[in-house]
Amino acid sequence: MASYENVTVPEGGERIERTDSGLKVPDHPIIPVIEGDGIGPDIMRATRKVLDAAAEKSSDGGRKIAWMDIYCGDSAMGRYGDVLPDESIEAIREFIVALKGPLTTPVGGGFRSLNVSLRQILNLYACVRPVKYFPGVPAPVREPQKMNMIIFRENTEDVYAGIEWESGSEEVKRLLSFLQETMGKEIRPDSGIGIKPISPTGTKQLVRMAIRYGLEHKKRSVTLVHKGNIMKFTEGAFRDWGYELAAEEFGDSTISENEIWEKHDGRAPKGRLVMKDRIADSMFQQILTRTEDYDILATPNLNGDYLSDACAAQVGGLGMAPGANIGDESALFEATHGTAPKYANQDKVNPGSLILSGVMMLRHLGWEQAADLVEKGIGQAILDKQVTYDLARQMENVTPIKTSEFGQAIIDRM
Ligand code: NAP
Repeated sequence: MASYENVTVPEGGERIERTDSGLKVPDHPIIPVIEGDGIGPDIMRATRKVLDAAAEKSSDGGRKIAWMDIYCGDSAMGRYGDVLPDESIEAIREFIVALKGPLTTPVGGGFRSLNVSLRQILNLYACVRPVKYFPGVPAPVREPQKMNMIIFRENTEDVYAGIEWESGSEEVKRLLSFLQETMGKEIRPDSGIGIKPISPTGTKQLVRMAIRYGLEHKKRSVTLVHKGNIMKFTEGAFRDWGYELAAEEFGDSTISENEIWEKHDGRAPKGRLVMKDRIADSMFQQILTRTEDYDILATPNLNGDYLSDACAAQVGGLGMAPGANIGDESALFEATHGTAPKYANQDKVNPGSLILSGVMMLRHLGWEQAADLVEKGIGQAILDKQVTYDLARQMENVTPIKTSEFGQAIIDRM
């Protein structure tokens, strides 16, 4: 076990282990937790209580998470003089599964987003965002209950790789002359330039995860979302590599939409996961017009960023949207919204996003019953109109409750 400067490994806690057949999770797993900045402490307090209650209730007291505080962002600055200390990263590596509140990204000044850094350093290559509707949540569409999708967004490549140069800079001038002289390509001289790398390595590891999830959870289809009609060698290649991976590694358990039409009269053979692809702009229409036709989407980074927020908006917004960053080595579960600093320490905001990220974490641990209990509690609390200000203001005659009270309302309804 690594030794830590500012982190106390909880006594009595046990380590989660990786095995060939998946995670081996003890009854008292040590889980590193980054409380987060701004509203982080408020929502994390409520979340830990809810997850603790669910673990206890679902196991007659046999299971308990051994939370281990680690530090990033503001809370790390005072202790380490650094917002992203090495030992926090080491702790996530060592203990495999972690939970995280939102972190401040200072604007300008050469800071990279802490969230992006964590994903890249730990190779958390998939951003996984399940989106489904909880009855009673105010939503902008007529039939929000039709949405039940999970988005696997590539997390390390694409225009988000962070390789770009400013208009007029020396680097851009050199790049422009290289492109002109060596490649014969003209670009407007006052352009800024960003690079969009998409590789078969990045694509295939993402699509593999999406297909495995689809097979394990008996889903109907995986849809590759891309803009390959315009960007053939990046987005179009994402589609081609996705189909290629499905055929190479899951040939017996998947089938492409084309094959269904060519060989099976348009009807998918039972038990096969259907591989489809859609152009990104059409996909934005389809989530509204044919919502129930889709269950898993696999996307490059930028498409996935937009699409997952659009899907979340359709069922009532980001306040209830969970997320996780997952790689082969570790997984980091996190709220999808930011630190909302104006509400810090007011016990006011909705902890739903972080609690539902905790539900994903429980399922990742294989603690399905505990996860079901939390979902049940949230669902019933909302139906009983026990909600925080953000939901209350969109409902009629509902008095908002506090963050901590919402947590307790969930526990009372498990
Ligand atoms: P934000 O923190 O998500 O807040 C924007 C607005 O969303 C809030 O003013 C509030 O709206 C609503 N909101 C957010 N979380 C809520 C919750 N739990 N319950 C109810 N309402 C909630 O976005 P931001 O103001 O653009 O960003 C603030 C900081 O967070 C920045 O430093 C940014 O870099 C960081 N950030 C971090 C992450 C992350 O760690 N993953 C993600 C995004 C942003 P109303 O005012 O309308 O009530």
